[in-house]
Amino acid sequence: MGGYDDSMRIIAHIDMDAFFASVEEHANPHLRGTPLVIGADPENGRGRGVVSTASYAARAYGIHSAQPISQAWHLSEEAARRGKPCVVFLPVDMELYADVSRRIMNVLRESVGCVEEASIDEAYLDMSSLKDFGDTEACITGIKRSITKEHGITASVGIGPNKLIAKIASGRNKPDGFTVISREDVATFLEALSVREIPGVGPKTENVLNHKMIFTVRELKKIECEVLVQWFGKWGSALYAKARGIDDDPVATVRELSSIG
Ligand SMILES: [Mg+2]
Repeated sequence: MGGYDDSMRIIAHIDMDAFFASVEEHANPHLRGTPLVIGADPENGRGRGVVSTASYAARAYGIHSAQPISQAWHLSEEAARRGKPCVVFLPVDMELYADVSRRIMNVLRESVGCVEEASIDEAYLDMSSLKDFGDTEACITGIKRSITKEHGITASVGIGPNKLIAKIASGRNKPDGFTVISREDVATFLEALSVREIPGVGPKTENVLNHKMIFTVRELKKIECEVLVQWFGKWGSALYAKARGIDDDPVATVRELSSIG
């Protein structure tokens, strides 16, 4: 098996934009473009539970996923007072989203072969056999177009030499983004980011780093591995590698992982 060589690998990360909301808009064309929140019942502002997904029109009101649904309801009321359309609240229809997801993943597998379903709306594709970033871009552009045509959903794509870089890249230009980070550009790309943009860095790690006056990946890279291990234990050495864009994690197909369903 002999390890993975980043000089050979090309990985794409595809992330559907506002997936649940986009699926609902495609299934109910009269909702297209309206502020849409998928999640718990708002019960006129007294509802418990959270927002699962907000459409981009709803995000313009300050609504975002994981926010309390009552807060989303109040933001909708506030927007209405300014003469803007009210938010349409819908319950989660997981069966529908899972079905659309399954069909999209099948298209990905048919076109690429090596596909890891990272979640219901995210996948990693190993494009290494194409040997060329330009050819990869062309292939993914075609896939992106067919998803939009078939399901009315846009996706944001990141292409890079490994899963870590592809994942960060796909988050850079949402929605409908397309960000390609070549091997030569990895260091420059990462150094400009805030530490929070490294996958796995949550509010806790960010807080610790910020207290030590470390805000960007460039600043993080000045810290020795041993020091990061003192601060964070095992996670410190993982963080050290991530700050340098190092990631050997292979794209694992469902078949290799398990046989659920
Ligand atoms: Mg998504």
